[in-house]
Amino acid sequence: MNTAPNPVRYADFYRQSIEHPDAFWAEQAKLIDWHTPPQQILDTSRLPFVRWFAGGTTNLCHNAVDRHLATRAAQPALIAVSTETGSEKTYTYAELHAHVQRAAAVLQALGVTRGDRVLIYMPMIAEAIFAMLACVRIGAIHCVVFGGFASSSLASRIEDAQPKVIISTDAGSRGRRVIPYKPLLDEAIHLSVYKPSAVVLHDRGLVPMELVAGRDHIASTLEAQQQNTQVPCVWLDATEPSYVLYTSGTTGKPKGVQRDTGGYAVALAASMKHIYDCHAGETMFTASDIGWVVGHSYIVYAPLLAGAATVVYEGLPTQGLDGKTNGAIWWSLVEKYKVSIVFTAPTAIRVLKQQDPALLKKHDLSSLRMLFLAGEPLDEPTARWISEGLGVPIIDNYWQTETGWPIIAMANGVERMPSKFGSPGLPAYGYKVKILHEVTGEELTAPNEKGVVVFEGPTPPGFMQTVWRNDERFIYSYWRSFPDRMVYSTFDWGIRDADGYFYILGRSDDVINIAGHRLGTREIEESIAGHPGVAEVAVVGVEDPLKGQVAVGFAIPKDSAAIDDSEVAKKLENEVMHRVAEQIGALARPSRVHFVAALPKTRSGKLLRRAIQAICEHRDPGDLTTIDDVSSLQAIREMMKS
Ligand code: AMP
Repeated sequence: MNTAPNPVRYADFYRQSIEHPDAFWAEQAKLIDWHTPPQQILDTSRLPFVRWFAGGTTNLCHNAVDRHLATRAAQPALIAVSTETGSEKTYTYAELHAHVQRAAAVLQALGVTRGDRVLIYMPMIAEAIFAMLACVRIGAIHCVVFGGFASSSLASRIEDAQPKVIISTDAGSRGRRVIPYKPLLDEAIHLSVYKPSAVVLHDRGLVPMELVAGRDHIASTLEAQQQNTQVPCVWLDATEPSYVLYTSGTTGKPKGVQRDTGGYAVALAASMKHIYDCHAGETMFTASDIGWVVGHSYIVYAPLLAGAATVVYEGLPTQGLDGKTNGAIWWSLVEKYKVSIVFTAPTAIRVLKQQDPALLKKHDLSSLRMLFLAGEPLDEPTARWISEGLGVPIIDNYWQTETGWPIIAMANGVERMPSKFGSPGLPAYGYKVKILHEVTGEELTAPNEKGVVVFEGPTPPGFMQTVWRNDERFIYSYWRSFPDRMVYSTFDWGIRDADGYFYILGRSDDVINIAGHRLGTREIEESIAGHPGVAEVAVVGVEDPLKGQVAVGFAIPKDSAAIDDSEVAKKLENEVMHRVAEQIGALARPSRVHFVAALPKTRSGKLLRRAIQAICEHRDPGDLTTIDDVSSLQAIREMMKS
């Protein structure tokens, strides 16, 4: 922990990263071990493609695991907690090393070599992390597919990545309901034109599995043959890919975000020091999923690169180890494992906001220094509620699958600067963030002018290298939004205030146009969420013959009477509408606010506004494979019918 006063000013640190990227990143590169040092720090000969640390050789697994054996072999590395199976297990760095080595030996025995893809379709269990580390150990490229995806999404990823081996399990579990994975995987392989040569299955004993002869193997059987096999780390060029992670594209065909090795390791190690301020010997608890980028970066690689312990959590945020409702489970883990940094999405906090606030005070949270939130706009009422409840700084940080680490955040490890509610803060070192006029592409420099958030190349280490096997798609998807400017578009609206703090106003495609006036759904949501009777809300733009679009709200009330009793609902709806009209203007007043028990979200917690919007407009809501709870959408459909 940085207790001594830090003489470095963030403004200088940032300027150095932009004006002298070679010197700046050469310094950061010292945070990791290199087998051979980089020959060239930054290669910009093929912009917008960038090569970081070319000629240097290193290995992510060496840096995350082996490097720590000399100094912290007996310290905790991975703390696997499942409230789904009621289990808790801590692995030291030495134990992690042994497991990863065995998993790597299994892959090698199946013929996996450098550059081969291995697809991992797993829930949040330790074996999934062993598998990821085993891949990077031998130079195989992992493609983790979120365990909640169903067969067709999985099939499209198998086809694109063409993995030699798939690693999976019998089942996941959610709310103590077992979700068999094997039949979904079998169906996906059946649907895919490309077939893997082997499937390795971790048998959790949750459901019986039918094995396909010659293709399927039980992991423990293969591992038993590799008890003492030594698998050295393969030294990779810094620019060789470490993984591909798929993210939704506008075309419906997922984009494979390809990450390098050396740049990613340096970017994450630097972010742990400068942004997350989490260090060797401490514990970080990132409540996300390895199927998402936050999981790759801050459940797996970053904490381990730093020599910290990472908590790997399988379960709901409100479920205890005994399976019963427990809204304080996360805080009990903070107490038990002396967690210093918690990282999750605002949605999870809004779920907790529906619980008794006394639960936040039930455990000793003296180890906790900061709560990081990312993935979606953090509304002010939620930020205030949790910040007051926990009594620690809340650090909003803004980034994307494509960037791998924050674009906008507060670099508290460099200089402690005041945060502002509603803002993730200042551009992270290495990012030349700008706001452009959405049509003209002109840079908006006056405070509080709303435009599209972009950044100029060269992109910093850790940023995606390309779209897997599709350089053209990388260029036209991200770099061609503005005809005369080669800038990376985030497709997010944003503003920058007079102090240089950015505010992210949601996806540029989530914006509502009411009678020719553009309004961010976030602004309306924030206003509604500030009503004391509302726990959570989604606002969508719905077609209107007169105004083009009107705002329609779907809110979860704190008191369920607003769902069951039309009188109570009407009163609350009027209050909410009045509030919006008063806070933002009559224009923004939603035409209706409906009260619902649940909102449709992806399993990573993102609100499916576009699906709600489609239902409101009596259109097909599209691909629902990522939805967490289909019944929430069905309830909205019924509501719209009536
Ligand atoms: P993903 O690639 O799935 O992580 O989604 C990235 C998108 O999530 C961004 O383009 C933003 O729209 C949104 N997002 C992520 N972090 C934040 C944040 N801190 N504030 C507002 N929006 C965010």
